[in-house]
Amino acid sequence: MPEECIFCRIVKGELPCCPVYQDDFIFAFLDINPISQGHCIVVPKDHYNLFHQCPPDLVAKLAGKLGPIAQAVVESVDAQGYNILNNNGRPAGQLVEHLHFHIIPRRNDDGVFNRWPAGKYPPGFMEQLADKISHKIKTF
Ligand code: AMP
Ligand code: ZN
Repeated sequence: MPEECIFCRIVKGELPCCPVYQDDFIFAFLDINPISQGHCIVVPKDHYNLFHQCPPDLVAKLAGKLGPIAQAVVESVDAQGYNILNNNGRPAGQLVEHLHFHIIPRRNDDGVFNRWPAGKYPPGFMEQLADKISHKIKTF
């Protein structure tokens, strides 16, 4: 619920944070437990849980700010790259149920996300799955 949501409370100024950017729709602040220095959280000011629940025009507003914020973060900590990460649901690692994007500055050989558990499809399965997904996609 928005009343209890940590990020809603941060947006409203009820909980402290170190802000780096805000406008009418978006708020960005430093992550309290950073994966690397400069790790930022970017949220819409309105409460949505999952990415697909957020209206596309708000997604567009938020997405438009990720690049400039990421560039500023990377330059501020002298990083060589960055990840933009959005976890949706507990199995995907989402702990705070208010839509948010992580901007994580990266350095050569920093070891973050070292394991990428890539797999393989059985023969023919990939084409069937792509077909199934493409028929289910809903747009506004
Ligand atoms: P996620 O696992 O994608 O839900 O990530 C939630 C992130 O929010 C974690 O990286 C936390 O460190 C961060 N976080 C939680 N509470 C706060 C807070 N009060 N201020 C800043 N970052 C927070
Ligand atoms: Zn919220």
